[in-house]
Amino acid sequence: MRVHAVQTGTVAIRERQRRGEGSGALRLLRTALGGAWTEPLPIWSWVIDHPEGVIVVDTGVNTRMLEPGYFTRWNPYFRRNVRVSVGPEEEIGPRVRDLGIAPEEVRWVVLTHLHMDHDGGLHHFPNAEILVSREEHRIATGSLGKAAGYLPHRWPSWYAPRLVDLSPEPFGPFPRSLALTAEGDVRLVGTEGHTAGHVSVVVSEEGRSLFLAGDTSYTEGLMLEQVVDGVSPRERIAQRTLERVLRYAEEVPTVYLPSHDPGSAARLAARAPVRMEARVYEEQPYA
Ligand SMILES: [Zn+2]
Repeated sequence: MRVHAVQTGTVAIRERQRRGEGSGALRLLRTALGGAWTEPLPIWSWVIDHPEGVIVVDTGVNTRMLEPGYFTRWNPYFRRNVRVSVGPEEEIGPRVRDLGIAPEEVRWVVLTHLHMDHDGGLHHFPNAEILVSREEHRIATGSLGKAAGYLPHRWPSWYAPRLVDLSPEPFGPFPRSLALTAEGDVRLVGTEGHTAGHVSVVVSEEGRSLFLAGDTSYTEGLMLEQVVDGVSPRERIAQRTLERVLRYAEEVPTVYLPSHDPGSAARLAARAPVRMEARVYEEQPYA
């Protein structure tokens, strides 16, 4: 089994989206108000070349997003709070081909969630079985989906995902998970928070885990700090997930790989586990 990091362009967001400020409704409001931009952040997808078939986790952005009218016009988020950059050869299809893998041969595509920088490359994988959590699909296609930033009208016409209900099968501190491979070494785990139906993918190899975290947090540092982002609809749920990730990383050497962390690809290459000693403790004991 080999795991590859694949970048499909960049996205800049507001600093307050990456690191939420304040709590409750105020946190969401502050994000909407704007403020400083982040630098252009990578958009990582992951390609798992597995004996049971190739698995792609998240599909990045596409060049049509650069054309006027692609995003929902009446949703100010797209105009005010996000800047995408991507070229034709940076889309996930060409990137997968660069690895010597034909996109048509991909067996599974797992979407951590349905935000546009994760589902934007679906059209490259018409033959794959696409997995998304039932809850995430329900919200994205619901009456408030577009207001929440989902773009269900941009999905390919053939899009008919396998809607996944994670079973109450605990995986470390995570109460719900689902093995994707028969071998059990690639597993979906519930990491609700950034969105209500968010999942992560955990790849087990040689006594360690590769934690493909989607937008569970925007960086490893923010997970260690246990900082909720500026868009998670329910702060306490996001907080609980961050606690679970931290507990998991205490139990198992874990390479933690968020979708927009500039350090993710290098940590994957080095198999660099979460550095628990880098954790910022809220209460420092007095000497
Ligand atoms: Zn997202």
